[in-house]
Amino acid sequence: MTHLSDTGRNPPAAVEYQINPKMIGLKCTRCGELFGLDLGDTGLGCSSCLEQGFPASLACAYENLDHDFGSCSRSKKMTRFGRYLPYESFPTLGEGNTAVLPLADIARSLGIAHLWLKNEGQNPTGSHKDRMTAVCLARAIELGKQTVVAASSGNAGASLAAYASAAGLRSVIVCSEDIAPAWAGAISAHGGELHKLKSADERWPHMRKLVEEDGFYPVTNFLSPPVGSNPFGIEGYKTIAYEIFEDLEHEMPTAIVIPNCRGDVMAGIYYGFRDLVDLGLVQKLPRLIAAEPGPRLVNVLSGSDYRGVLPVNENHLTSIGGNTATFQAFNALVQTKGTAVAVDNEAAVVCRKLLARHGLYLELSAAAALAGAEKLAALGYFDTADNVLLLGTSHGYKEPREVDFDKT
Ligand SMILES: [Zn+2]
Repeated sequence: MTHLSDTGRNPPAAVEYQINPKMIGLKCTRCGELFGLDLGDTGLGCSSCLEQGFPASLACAYENLDHDFGSCSRSKKMTRFGRYLPYESFPTLGEGNTAVLPLADIARSLGIAHLWLKNEGQNPTGSHKDRMTAVCLARAIELGKQTVVAASSGNAGASLAAYASAAGLRSVIVCSEDIAPAWAGAISAHGGELHKLKSADERWPHMRKLVEEDGFYPVTNFLSPPVGSNPFGIEGYKTIAYEIFEDLEHEMPTAIVIPNCRGDVMAGIYYGFRDLVDLGLVQKLPRLIAAEPGPRLVNVLSGSDYRGVLPVNENHLTSIGGNTATFQAFNALVQTKGTAVAVDNEAAVVCRKLLARHGLYLELSAAAALAGAEKLAALGYFDTADNVLLLGTSHGYKEPREVDFDKT
């Protein structure tokens, strides 16, 4: 009998991935300049803005989007939206089609018409990141890359390790020494190689060297001040907007609260709704609201430089921590006429427990969305006609630290 190896890697996929012919290039989110696709593989964002000292993300640009949106078959999960993404097919583990669940009693408490939570913890590795990873890997494979790299001490690393191994690629996850055991264990089990560095800040030059000297394909940012993650991958988040439209077509959200770090998912959801407006399916963009563990984007919206060191509270919101912002996050808020809200640890813990009592067990960083909605409701931000959707970004089984619910 042949023993199954516990160290082997899948052979590289025989599948070929080809760029969507409707893609015309990459557009800077800040200056609007249109570039060729290659610039999206550098991890540096817009070269013109970077030269001027303003790091800014690129976003995929298309021509003539397919108007037959209704023919996307739900049984194919996220792959059904391929014609609106940079790659019409990509390596998949079955991501997408996450549930949108109503929270009627909490909606009444907040004084709004409807409240829903889209449970992204249902994705294959338990977070929204799988949508980005899948599309990003199609790009890496088309370019013939053997190794993909991400700076992550959490969900992005776990997602990349899983998808890369399944597709026959090597993955390197650059993390800090204090990476939580739940994530480190998952990354290692998938065959991802952990590069542990003493501090979070040391991750950036290390990853940059792996990209620029060793030729690894970058999935996440390595600049400081940062840009967003890989622009091809971010397009995967557009499918969150598409699915919300499918599920709530007749009661479209007027606002979506998103736990935010560097704005990848917020930018992707904005691009997805912009597509739906361009296709004539949605009349108005929902306001996007960033829930953050400190007044980072709150301050940027009030005039602080997005490139500066921004305030963050002492907290356990590991997946949305850090003291930086990105231009793409700021841009998504401005374009959708949204806002940002700072939430504290205690409020997130209370909201996590409340959601758990509704059957929804989320990572504390994901429960920050409800804490943000509650704070804004108390400030009178919503009115009684508002339909609010919370993005539950990650499953609670991944919580990096113990949370003592008896104290709440
Ligand atoms: Zn630019």
